Amino acid sequence: MEDQYTGVKAAGQSEKSGWVLNTRTKGRESVLKSVRMCESGSHVIILRNRQTGQPAIIPFRCKSWRCPRCQRFKGAQDFVRVKNGMLRRGDQWVYLVLTMIHGNYSNEWAAYNAGYFNWKKLSKRLIRAHGPLDYVQTWEAHESGFPHANVAIHNRSIWNACRGEGWKKFRQYLKPHLVATGFGYVVHVEPLRSGTGEGLAGYLTKLSRELTGSSVKNQVPLNAPPGFRRLRASRGLLEPIHRPGIHEGMLLPVKLAHAFDFGAEAWAELVKARLVEREKNFGRKKRGLQ
Ligand SMILES: [Zn+2]
Repeated sequence: MEDQYTGVKAAGQSEKSGWVLNTRTKGRESVLKSVRMCESGSHVIILRNRQTGQPAIIPFRCKSWRCPRCQRFKGAQDFVRVKNGMLRRGDQWVYLVLTMIHGNYSNEWAAYNAGYFNWKKLSKRLIRAHGPLDYVQTWEAHESGFPHANVAIHNRSIWNACRGEGWKKFRQYLKPHLVATGFGYVVHVEPLRSGTGEGLAGYLTKLSRELTGSSVKNQVPLNAPPGFRRLRASRGLLEPIHRPGIHEGMLLPVKLAHAFDFGAEAWAELVKARLVEREKNFGRKKRGLQ
């Protein structure tokens, strides 16, 4: 197999499967620098274990949901966090699909950016009427390029309102609030009933496909502006991403194959020297010597 880290073969494969096309949207170019670095394999990270001094060379990975290489990894990681967070709260989740009115926005980016503020206003209204709530929100791109949001809400009062056929009434109740907060009045409301295929389990199945970009209709919002967060949740619902801190490392603009030529040991020495230097400078700055 071709060296997977140099990106030579990978780029060829990408073109065949259409991945490269997916990251570049018509109209607005929004490929992040980190994604480009990851895709082209232009950078490596030299790691050095703080305790043992053991060196390692690994290819730089952006771990972005926008990246064809990292999308599945990132999606799987996000999915586990969401699943654990939701199951910890138990049942009684209500699922909403919130739409945006295209005519209100000059372009897709404006709609994505507005979505954040619209939700802030809407959730404020819901909290005022129903008390504190937990939510998980994922954004998807519609075929037109405009976004819509899938939101799962956990709140006893809203759950009770939606039970049985109550969701129909709740949907009517929701409409003026949606319009007032900037969302479209077309809304899908669905209590995620336990013990049914379409309940929480069904929602999670759909979510896992959505986050890893593996559903039939790929709706990953690649056309969102840089820095846009595809996944949002109420504070404290999702566990933080664990980052073990036993390594120190450095990002270097070197292809992996070339990095191996130089040898991990030599790199590790270099990294160590640079880190010592950096610490010295930092100390001097702190003491006001520089
Ligand atoms: Zn990547």
